[in-house]
Amino acid sequence: MRAKYPDAEVIGGPESIVMPGLIDAHSHGRGLSPIQKGVLYDYLENAFLDWSSMVYLPNDLCAALSAVRHLRMGCTSIHHTGWNDEGPRALENARLAIESYRRSGIRLAYSPAVRDRNRFCIDEAEFLKTLPSELHAFVAPMTRYDARKIADDYMALFDTLKQSEDGPMSRVLHGPSWAHGTTDEFFTRIRDSANAGGGTPIHIHTLQTPHQRAWSIKTFGCSLVEHLDRLGVLGPNTTLGHAVWLSERDIEIMADRGASTTHHASCNLHVRNGISPIWYMMQKGINVALGLDDKSLNDDDDPFMELRMSAMLSRVPGFDLGTMPPLTSAQILSMGTTNAARTLGFVPQHGTLHANAPADVIVLDSASMLHDPWTSDRLAISDLLLWRAKGQDVTDVVVDGRVVICNRQFKTLDVEALYAEIRHYVKHHEAKAATPERTAGLQALRPYFHAWHRNMLSYLDVTEPFYRVNGRI
Ligand SMILES: [Zn+2]
Repeated sequence: MRAKYPDAEVIGGPESIVMPGLIDAHSHGRGLSPIQKGVLYDYLENAFLDWSSMVYLPNDLCAALSAVRHLRMGCTSIHHTGWNDEGPRALENARLAIESYRRSGIRLAYSPAVRDRNRFCIDEAEFLKTLPSELHAFVAPMTRYDARKIADDYMALFDTLKQSEDGPMSRVLHGPSWAHGTTDEFFTRIRDSANAGGGTPIHIHTLQTPHQRAWSIKTFGCSLVEHLDRLGVLGPNTTLGHAVWLSERDIEIMADRGASTTHHASCNLHVRNGISPIWYMMQKGINVALGLDDKSLNDDDDPFMELRMSAMLSRVPGFDLGTMPPLTSAQILSMGTTNAARTLGFVPQHGTLHANAPADVIVLDSASMLHDPWTSDRLAISDLLLWRAKGQDVTDVVVDGRVVICNRQFKTLDVEALYAEIRHYVKHHEAKAATPERTAGLQALRPYFHAWHRNMLSYLDVTEPFYRVNGRI
């Protein structure tokens, strides 16, 4: 190699491990986490109330910080699914984020995401009827919107972004936010647009909580996955984010249609969703991809820790020693490479180190994996990486042949200047986000919100779990 390329720059050393850059197939690019903003996680439904009074950074700062956190931990590609793609500034906000990602050097899949139903909570019109007048007046404006206009604006935004931003380093995907937050009419338009685009990837949060499953039974008389299938939305280009509350039949439908899922192991625990049955999904051949969802185990977007968490949580399916083997290190690592790549629609070799693959490469220092104080040579590299690697072992990052991080130093952006800008922003905006009136209103709402969701569970059709972890009776 040296003789052939005498002037080539050398990255890493004799004890380095080189592997494909990891891919986060589900993120929202929010930068600072809720924990950093002083808001702890709880049930997802409670969290929505809590999050609505925390400080938000502008899109360019969010995206830049997310890119920094992902790149330094070894993610060379990120899928940003949107959270403020509505209103007159939607296009400007999307472009601010996309431009920030582009400057950082990370490979980007971007899906604008909106909801044209169930924006405040499931069956929000019925929920309103349960509120006393003062709280009714507080919540009602949040449930008044023009669903048709939301869908029209989304389709226009998607088409504009697709035309202007789709390229080798950035893909624009369909992301209609939640399955339960999207009307049938809107889904049909997204399906037709994806088909017209030759199979544009569609990414949907689906069955994250039991309440969402119950709502589907109540509303459609079937599971959300069955409903999506009836609408013709499920196919090899469809990815269901979370997919915690699937039934056995849902898994069969997904496998038949070739649909994928993104697994957000720590996020599902943080917001108390449960554990997605990925062991069963992989048994059926479903493509399971890594998603950090901005809520990782150490609150730092470390994809290695997240893959390890996925491996751990999938080790509890049952008690048959002979027929329930653990997922292999190769299966788990593939979640963060080829499986994740498949959901994003870049070139087929994305996520590999094959000839002609995009040069998305990370270099890790193996010292902490091998010399603390000794590790057997008999351990396969895939096992070493899954069980002992950490994001902090990443020393160098190359994306599309461009050195983005060299010897732990960013080449593309000034991290200290970015941190200073973020500190300056939150200092002046934190107090404005959580006004006492808003915080008090959300607090007063809480018991009604709880009762509403508790009653929804009467429609839940779950009698048998996938994973058995203990037993009361
Ligand atoms: Zn998400």
